[in-house]
Amino acid sequence: MSELDKTAPEPPLWRRIWSAPEQEISTAGFGGELLVAGVRLLIVVALLYFPIDAVLQRPGGYDPLALLATGTIGLVLALVLYSATNRRWGKNWIGFASSILDVSLVSAMLTVFLFLGRPEEATNNLGLFPIYFLAIAATSLRYDVRICIVTGFLALVQYTAVIAYADWRWDLHTSAFAPLAQLTGATFIAATIVVRTRELRLLSTRDRFTGLLNRAVFMEQLEREVAFARREDGRFAIAMLDIDHFKKFNDTYGHAGGDEALRAVAHTLRGSCRATDVVARYGGEEFALILPGVMSGRATDLLERFRRVVAVKAIALPGRSKPASVTVSIGVAIWPDDGESPADLLRCADERLYRAKAEGRDRVIGPTPHPFPRPAEEGRRAAGTE
Ligand code: GH3
Ligand code: MG
Ligand code: MG
Repeated sequence: MSELDKTAPEPPLWRRIWSAPEQEISTAGFGGELLVAGVRLLIVVALLYFPIDAVLQRPGGYDPLALLATGTIGLVLALVLYSATNRRWGKNWIGFASSILDVSLVSAMLTVFLFLGRPEEATNNLGLFPIYFLAIAATSLRYDVRICIVTGFLALVQYTAVIAYADWRWDLHTSAFAPLAQLTGATFIAATIVVRTRELRLLSTRDRFTGLLNRAVFMEQLEREVAFARREDGRFAIAMLDIDHFKKFNDTYGHAGGDEALRAVAHTLRGSCRATDVVARYGGEEFALILPGVMSGRATDLLERFRRVVAVKAIALPGRSKPASVTVSIGVAIWPDDGESPADLLRCADERLYRAKAEGRDRVIGPTPHPFPRPAEEGRRAAGTE
């Protein structure tokens, strides 16, 4: 049986589309968000030129002041979003919030024209209407189809409301068909770009055998985490895990049995970590973790828990009635105490991993000597209590 035949069945199409992007993709999407936040600021500043110019030419006029007030609110919100994105706030919702803001700002400006009694400028505005397309196109940089759909839908609803009001109030008989069809088309294209990019990115970032991140992405994420921790004065831990006596496990249970054990350990690790933790297959039977925001003492305790969870996991093997189990040795390093660069941190975690092996395996070695030698029986007792 090939490796891919044995992976879990794919979820239905709607589930794949309507779900949060995978971790490495949402990290890339957050980079896109920062770019969009900068472009938004530039556009709002550029757009402010028109009401400012009008105010200067007709000081005291109500119309330019109303537009200037709306533009200024837009500028303040754009500044807040830029600063929030720069600090990584609201990682899960900022993409939604900023896209909704983009579309709603355009609709608000169009609505101001309606209230100023200038419906043609609301329904036929060549300066503002195309910004809907920019907002929809920008959603494809966030790699989240849900954001594309919500943004496109909101643009459709809000623009329909603007046209319907102008129609009802001034009997304009504007045809909304063409602009609405264009907005729908733009949304479809943005969503398709995201689905395709996500598929391509998953292929290049995942270890297909275990479904975990691959080593190249781990290194990328580690560099990113170091840069972030430096900027924000943060802390994080990394860990290197290696399955104990895996050669012997392969000899005893066969290569297929070894493969099953590798997948089981990968699954257990992913299931025990937070969504923000990075879990990667580093090499053959070695795994690497990044635990953002985790301090020295807690990191060792956390990994000790991982070690125990792995040890008590019963691994069902094909053609065998009794499940098997494996143990892991773990080396932990903390940024910046154990090294300021990715290479130094990795070296430190690796040295501690080898110390864990040398001291008898099935243990965690962290920054403060914290060896937790655990005979396998204790693990089985713990299994009974779970
Ligand atoms: P130690 O406790 O010192 O780590 O002993 P070990 O036997 O685990 O160490 P070693 O690194 O010498 O052996 C690793 C073994 O892992 C050798 C290789 O056959 C096996 N291995 C690596 N990748 C895979 C894989 O994808 N599938 C299977 N079944 N085995 C693998
Ligand atoms: Mg090894
Ligand atoms: Mg090993």
